[in-house]
Amino acid sequence: MLADRYGRVATDLRVSLTDKCNLRCTYCMPAEGLSWLPKPELLTDDELVRLVGVAVGLGVTDVRLTGGEPLVRPGVVGLVGRLAELSPRPALSLTTNGLGLARLAAPLRKAGLDRVNVSLDTVDRARYLTLTRRDRLPDVLAGLRAAAAAGLTPVKVNAVLMRGVNDDDAVELLRFCLESNYQLRFIEQMPLDPQHAWDRRRMLTAEEILDRLGAIWSLTPVESRGSSPAETWLVDGGPAVVGVIASVTRPFCASCDRVRLTADGQVRNCLFAREESDLRSALRAGADDGELAERWRAALRSKRAGHGIDDPAFLQPDRPMSAIGG
Ligand code: SAM
Repeated sequence: MLADRYGRVATDLRVSLTDKCNLRCTYCMPAEGLSWLPKPELLTDDELVRLVGVAVGLGVTDVRLTGGEPLVRPGVVGLVGRLAELSPRPALSLTTNGLGLARLAAPLRKAGLDRVNVSLDTVDRARYLTLTRRDRLPDVLAGLRAAAAAGLTPVKVNAVLMRGVNDDDAVELLRFCLESNYQLRFIEQMPLDPQHAWDRRRMLTAEEILDRLGAIWSLTPVESRGSSPAETWLVDGGPAVVGVIASVTRPFCASCDRVRLTADGQVRNCLFAREESDLRSALRAGADDGELAERWRAALRSKRAGHGIDDPAFLQPDRPMSAIGG
């Protein structure tokens, strides 16, 4: 098992397939000038499948593919197919900006993908262009429809709101998701930007988001968050729900069941970890699966009790979100 000193067990593995992305969201990447991981440092498909297989042997039951943008990794469909053959078979999901889904949703489903989360911070085309620096909203909407048609359900939509940027999109996003039968979750913005310019005052808090939604809809809390990062509310009595992932104002570290593998083969026991465990070098130096498993277990033993964002001594990790895997 991947247990830590506080009794938490990691069963949910986030795997970054690449640090590259075909959008340049203002809060996630600079317009240009972010250097990519050198190709020789990236895990090959064989290496990645092997490391995920070791994790599955250690009790990981859920594997979420992310990035960067996971759909820009060449051969992503084949990779999903290989991960679906692992035994015991993990649940397979993917976090994407949705641009590639119109083309890939059906083949991914066929290969064994179970679900997708699509990131969408506004449904206004001009604002989407400003936020992502690319005029691609129609492609995301087509991708969402393709995901639903392919049965990658429930299709979840993730949105980050920032004051003065897209805070007034909360209501429009929920309206859109209710009409389209997508499950919306708002994520509080975290200090993970490459510019290290995060400012708590610009982030929209869970409370503010709920106030805005509550002015239009009646929201009833759904009992039991479990280990899920999202707190959920029934909208107008249900069955539709809306979620908020309040990583900053209502941290859920005590029930965290996650571990991460970066595209260059480093295990991170927390999004905000300052240390990583280098499985790629061990693997390339000839470590067998037992040794890799022991390194993975050791990486979890040093997991801290909490992310520490509120600690005056908090230091933002060196890697931005796009290079860790969001
Ligand atoms: N490209 C994929 C996508 O767009 O979903 C996967 C990677 S992206 C980094 C994953 C998610 O992280 C997106 O929903 C994005 O909005 C979110 N994200 C990026 N920076 C963030 C931050 N500082 N705080 C909270 N969420 C962030």
